[in-house]
Amino acid sequence: MRSPDTIVALSTPPGRSGVAVIRLSGPHSLDYLKSLLRKTDFSPAPNRVSLHTLRDPESDEILDRALITYFKSPQSFTGEDVVELSCHGSPVLLLHVIDALLRLGARAADPGEFTLRAVSNGHLNLSQAEAVRDLIEAQTHAAVRQAARQLGGELSARLQPFKDTLIELIVPLESSLEFVEDDLPELVLAQLTDNLKQLSQNLESLAETFRSGRLLKEGINVALVGRPNAGKSSVFNRLLASDRAIVTDIPGTTRDSLSELLTIEGVPILLTDTAGVRQAGDTLEQLGIERTRRAIADADLVIVVIDGSQHLSGEDEAICAEVSESKHLLVINKSDLEILYEGGLNGVTRGIQSVTVSAITGAGFDLLRHAILAPFTDSAPQDTSVLITNARHFDLLQRAANSLYSSQRAIQQGASEDLILVGLYDALRYLGEITGETTTEDILSEIFATFCIGK
Ligand code: GDP
Repeated sequence: MRSPDTIVALSTPPGRSGVAVIRLSGPHSLDYLKSLLRKTDFSPAPNRVSLHTLRDPESDEILDRALITYFKSPQSFTGEDVVELSCHGSPVLLLHVIDALLRLGARAADPGEFTLRAVSNGHLNLSQAEAVRDLIEAQTHAAVRQAARQLGGELSARLQPFKDTLIELIVPLESSLEFVEDDLPELVLAQLTDNLKQLSQNLESLAETFRSGRLLKEGINVALVGRPNAGKSSVFNRLLASDRAIVTDIPGTTRDSLSELLTIEGVPILLTDTAGVRQAGDTLEQLGIERTRRAIADADLVIVVIDGSQHLSGEDEAICAEVSESKHLLVINKSDLEILYEGGLNGVTRGIQSVTVSAITGAGFDLLRHAILAPFTDSAPQDTSVLITNARHFDLLQRAANSLYSSQRAIQQGASEDLILVGLYDALRYLGEITGETTTEDILSEIFATFCIGK
């Protein structure tokens, strides 16, 4: 995997900018830099920035005045000799500089190749490299926070005790294979089963955090449902503090569903206002209802808006029944009016978490915002532990747990040590794949293909 060639790429986004950074990595980085400066005896101090004139190595034409930083191997991001040229951000100029470097012998870097080299040279493990990508792509504060923690090596640190325990369990099994003629004593097997059970449960709870981790990273789909005139559009607008939906007194005006993005405490929320789930009066409304059902199916959280100034109707009950399978929250709207809603006394809404608000005055909206996030943040472990935000990691953790379950079954069935060991080794391999210790070339290239060029 070690490539001896020197790669080059623009590390800042393409387009016009004040400054743009061209990055070189590989054994010839310094030689190419000398050629660009037309100074064969140039020996820059590592990690220091200095200002130099760049020239075309063939025509000697002045290209730019640029800030140059040299990072000497192994003290660099990739572990190789790295040169960074902070040029003026003119696309034509940048193309000329990169072209000059290519003519000197550098190769255009593939997507993620700098980070891949950092992994190959042991400067980053695979989950840290993925965190570099996630950090660059993060859309929310929550995503930035998680990626930064993963980049700091928290996930690998969290996995290490699992691997240590696995090895502790593997060693005596292996040695009993070697040295003991008889089967392992019952007591030892019982102890092993307990340990495996504990370990697989711990792996599963870590994998479980993916539900919250994914949502905090990618956002939460929230659908607003309720009978016509309950105040869905008003709640929608109040949450967005904008006026996109048309608010009227005529039942059934919000015929189409409307989605907008907002953030609550840095978490993106895709809020969808739907037409009322009610017996369809005409075909247009029928379409709206279908969209509502789809919105409920797609939603991570469904908010049922109820007109608190009225008694709970059969229609409200039907809507509650419709959402009962999904995660939902009751919003009792119109608290500025006399409240006639009977609250939890009614069978259908009993036990459902509810928030009382007024879309007209804004009362209760702080509580509502909190209640929208609560089901996702409450199930997440405290801020001190890592969340799984990557589907690949989630899958591998589940596979590791499943392998341990098959070892447990093997023990129950009185299978031989080597059969018990298969599951243990599989689990160790899956955990290793998360950090990249046991990852094949194919998987690596698949992962790095999702990076941007210059990273
Ligand atoms: P939707 O059909 O569920 O989307 O309901 P709308 O948002 O269109 O609201 C229906 C009617 O209820 C409109 O006349 C709103 O002004 C009124 N409304 C909505 N929220 C409140 C509220 O909190 N208090 C009062 N007094 N009226 C409200």
